[in-house]
Amino acid sequence: MKLGNYVLGNWIEGDGEGQKLYNAVNGELIATATTQGLDFSLILEYGRKKGTAALRKMTFQERGRMLKALALHLFEQKEKFYPISYKTGATRSDSWADIEGGIGNLFSNASLRRKLPNEIFALDGENIGLSKGGSFAAQHILLPKEGVALHINAFNFPVWGMLEKIAVNLLAGVAAVVKPATITSYLTEAVVKEIVDSKILPNGALQFICGSAGDILDHVTSQDVITFTGSASTGLMLKSNPNVLRENVPFNLEADSLNCIVLGDDVDPGMPEWEIFIKEIRKEMTSKAGQKCTAIRRIFVPVNKMEDMWKDLSISLSQTIIGNPENENVRMGALAAQSQKKEVRERVQKLLASSQIIYGSLDGVEVIDADENQGAFISPLLLKNESPFTSEEVHNIEAFGPVSTIMPYKNIEEAIELAKLGKGSLVSSVVTVNEQFAKDFILGTGTYHGRILVLNRDCAKESTGHGSPLPMLIHGGPGRAGGGEEMGGLRGIKHYMQRLALQGSPTMLTAITNVYQPGAKANTATIHPFKKYFEELHIGDRLITEKRIITSEDINKFADLSGDHFYAHLATTDFKETMFDEQVAHGYFIISAAAGLFVDSYELNPVLLNYGIEELRFTKPVYPGTGIYIKLTCKEKVEQELKEVTPETKNVKGIDIPKGIVKWYVEILDDTDEITGVATILTMVRKRK
Ligand code: NDP
Repeated sequence: MKLGNYVLGNWIEGDGEGQKLYNAVNGELIATATTQGLDFSLILEYGRKKGTAALRKMTFQERGRMLKALALHLFEQKEKFYPISYKTGATRSDSWADIEGGIGNLFSNASLRRKLPNEIFALDGENIGLSKGGSFAAQHILLPKEGVALHINAFNFPVWGMLEKIAVNLLAGVAAVVKPATITSYLTEAVVKEIVDSKILPNGALQFICGSAGDILDHVTSQDVITFTGSASTGLMLKSNPNVLRENVPFNLEADSLNCIVLGDDVDPGMPEWEIFIKEIRKEMTSKAGQKCTAIRRIFVPVNKMEDMWKDLSISLSQTIIGNPENENVRMGALAAQSQKKEVRERVQKLLASSQIIYGSLDGVEVIDADENQGAFISPLLLKNESPFTSEEVHNIEAFGPVSTIMPYKNIEEAIELAKLGKGSLVSSVVTVNEQFAKDFILGTGTYHGRILVLNRDCAKESTGHGSPLPMLIHGGPGRAGGGEEMGGLRGIKHYMQRLALQGSPTMLTAITNVYQPGAKANTATIHPFKKYFEELHIGDRLITEKRIITSEDINKFADLSGDHFYAHLATTDFKETMFDEQVAHGYFIISAAAGLFVDSYELNPVLLNYGIEELRFTKPVYPGTGIYIKLTCKEKVEQELKEVTPETKNVKGIDIPKGIVKWYVEILDDTDEITGVATILTMVRKRK
């Protein structure tokens, strides 16, 4: 009955009886949880010394492949988690968001490896020249922190809450200690068991404590990172911990948030947007029984459409079947625990000081396939507040259940002001086809939200919805929402890495970063770099080409061939009023001529194809008679994995060729050795094996 804690490389039961955890649907005892007797200082140290140390030795590519293996493994096991998830009150569709949404985060972060180097660290931004002579420069780099990520999670997403967070710290190269909220920790424990049994993660990369966090915050250090999701009051208490403050431990807080949705003043009954608005609200109120940090708590509607809207909303809510989440007709399950039901009811009572219930009841709810009193069931509750500018409760109190309040606004200025009364939220939606209304709302309230969804007929069908945080977008919001930020694709890993401004000579920076920095020494004593296989190429390998004289005839021919007869490329133009002295070569001709100079042979060589141009700048006009030559330098090598050959891909030409991407720094110089253009071009280069 006692849940395990996975710490110090072992499953360990805590001492004492522990906290009792109940099935949210029928009230049966499921398990107990306790961390009594655990040494949190040792646990953190184990994570740093074993887990993080091992992860820091792996490159982003290796960590990414590890995440992918873990995602595939959990995906195969996913059906095991659903029956446990039902016990938290979640329906199949709620559980899908928690379980498969969580696994999706692992996949998404695994894919990010393709945007990262085959190194343990990453470059952040471009090289910055710091001197006139070019001998002193800087480059920001990101290094994985040496501590652990301590995740203190909320009860509402026991799987997603863990996976969306560890996906990011593991990719960054940092181990995790996960503490889920105790009441639903039995589901998190089941997932951790699968992770541990898979042996995919290095020892110490994931530890799990199930129950009280004890004195753990007294042992965190400046190399650790804390993330917290839960109530604002607990968040405030934890981030005020003297040790956290003294050590300046990064603390990412995500707390209650009074998210809102606004119906544009252009939307009338009968328009598709009217139905879209209603559907979105119903979904947000009833999925996870409204226990979502992103759920819609405040609904703003033009004053003259209030009555039509709340009546239609009520009809829509009345179609929600509530009850045992295992029954496939059920659309809304139970709250996570009786304690939550009590809390939601108390909060609604407070809201009723200035609002009234217009749909649902606090006295009871009709459920199917379950006993209303044994389970933590509650009715969806739509409240109405006619005077939102003079009511404080509705903008301050979050009832963490299927509860939302509809309020009127007179004009866009009022809609903006009301949205801001929430003092910062995770997400807000505006439903409109009026582009100006949407723009005014976004510019007026954008600094108060982490994410804004503009919803209308054009995107509703494919929209991921108001309530779904996505791995590639930031999740978090200012003010009341906690002021934190997580995920957001590559942005997320930066929370677990130390950004370092590295200064020195371009040659030294190149040696350290393994990316060619402009002005660094290069190696010209080499065979043509296009004759080298991927493994044989070194950063700084350089080719300096012959010169080619650009003639007026060349420019005329290129104009005819490409059809680009822009006046600056015509010899007959009167150049008095232009930016140029005479006929100027097309930039695209110059880069093509550059390729003609640096591309070497008619014979097959390891370069498989030209992959694209990342950066291209024309910095000085090239006039007829100018001689240009090229410096082509190997800038960066990006590993590519061999793609799996499947029945669908087996006929894709070249799929089985081992290869990597090589980035080349191309400098186009003229007779005075001045740069007329620079580019970073990409080629795909064959590996020997
Ligand atoms: P809490 O803030 O009480 O708990 C959140 C997490 O903090 C849990 O893991 C909890 O563990 C942990 N915690 C609590 N006290 C301590 C402590 N002294 N030291 C270390 N960790 C601690 O939130 P609840 O989960 O109880 O939910 C309460 C309210 O929070 C909800 O009703 C809702 O309003 C809001 N909430 C907001 C969410 C959001 O995403 N913004 C998500 C969930 C809830 P334990 O469970 O063991 O107490």
